[in-house]
Amino acid sequence: MSLTPDFQPDVAAILAAATPASRIVFVCSPNNPTGNLADPEAIRRLASTFQGIVVVDEAYIDFSTHTGALELLPEFPNLIVMQTFSKAWGMAGIRLGMAFASKEIIHLFNKVKPPYNINQLTQEKALEALQRPEEKDRMVEILLREREKLETDFGKLPSVHRVYPSDANFLLVRVTDPHAMYTYLVEQGIIVRNRANVHLCEGSLRISIGTPKKTRR
Ligand SMILES: *Cc1c(COP(=O)(O)O)cnc(C)c1O
Repeated sequence: MSLTPDFQPDVAAILAAATPASRIVFVCSPNNPTGNLADPEAIRRLASTFQGIVVVDEAYIDFSTHTGALELLPEFPNLIVMQTFSKAWGMAGIRLGMAFASKEIIHLFNKVKPPYNINQLTQEKALEALQRPEEKDRMVEILLREREKLETDFGKLPSVHRVYPSDANFLLVRVTDPHAMYTYLVEQGIIVRNRANVHLCEGSLRISIGTPKKTRR
């Protein structure tokens, strides 16, 4: 289901498209590749009206100043919030995700989990990282500073028409000639994502925030 032109879930359209066979609605927030957070009010309306499970994929939530959908959990037993160690925690290699939900839903997860539980090495690494959340916070802080700098600097380029607000570790940027710019950047050894042909993202590149040195380049 397409987002609205301002990149929000179209709650009315989602509910209208749902049939009795529809079991799950997925919302990505902050969204990829638009980078914005879904309006919590939209998630609240979905969770209270849709007759199934609402999943909010919050892989990028650590890069947002908003708290996200966790605070809605006590209100909605049909809500699942998913997060990951792959982004802000810098631990994509351990392949560990998190799900937060009501007791009833977690109970169902636990019933089917036993033979395929998270492996012990992954558990140990995750527990180690959770002992030092300030390390993740420090990395996020550096990234957010770089995001802000890039946002300002892109805004000064004549070939940049729009820098969309970001709650993620990347910026969506609308430019004069996305294909030419993409090719030019590849030639310079800089890989960005060409999103020029994605609905609502016409003309745009998605640019990941890197280390301060990479950002300067
Ligand atoms: C990275 C990402 C995930 C999670 O990735 P895993 O490595 O499988 O935990 C989920 N959703 C989005 C939108 C992502 O970008």
